[in-house]
Amino acid sequence: MSEVNADNIFEKIISGEVPSYKIYEDDNVFAFLDINPISIGHTLVIPKIKSRNMLDVSEDVFSKVMEAVRVLAPKIKEAVEADGINIHINNEESAGQKVFHLHAHIIPQYDGKIIKFMRDPVQLEPERFKEIETKIKSHI
Ligand code: AMP
Repeated sequence: MSEVNADNIFEKIISGEVPSYKIYEDDNVFAFLDINPISIGHTLVIPKIKSRNMLDVSEDVFSKVMEAVRVLAPKIKEAVEADGINIHINNEESAGQKVFHLHAHIIPQYDGKIIKFMRDPVQLEPERFKEIETKIKSHI
């Protein structure tokens, strides 16, 4: 796991040094409203233990975050009367990660003003698909 970074804003939120709109906390996880919400109810779920992102985290820590997401997502959806929910995790800068402490975004979606995350698909020939399939499987 990553070294502890005392400047990390999410560590300061967990400790209470930086205020947040906390919606849930237990021994392992902390959930709070995103300060720049892309929809009403946009929530972040983070582990209390230091971890850079999903690529850096133990099975146990990730499971606890995901279990909290599983429990909280339907409750948030109901509370804010959303129609759907996206779960989003950015891992590393190239994937849009800005805060380097694992966090799962819970993003409520509303019919009529749906936030689209999908972009144009990459066009691949079957041979290229096969090549990629083989390469990934060799790492599993
Ligand atoms: P990411 O791009 O996945 O690293 O997302 C980081 C998220 O953290 C962004 O959506 C920010 O709006 C959010 N964020 C940053 N600082 C705070 C803060 N002090 N309180 C709540 N959310 C924050």
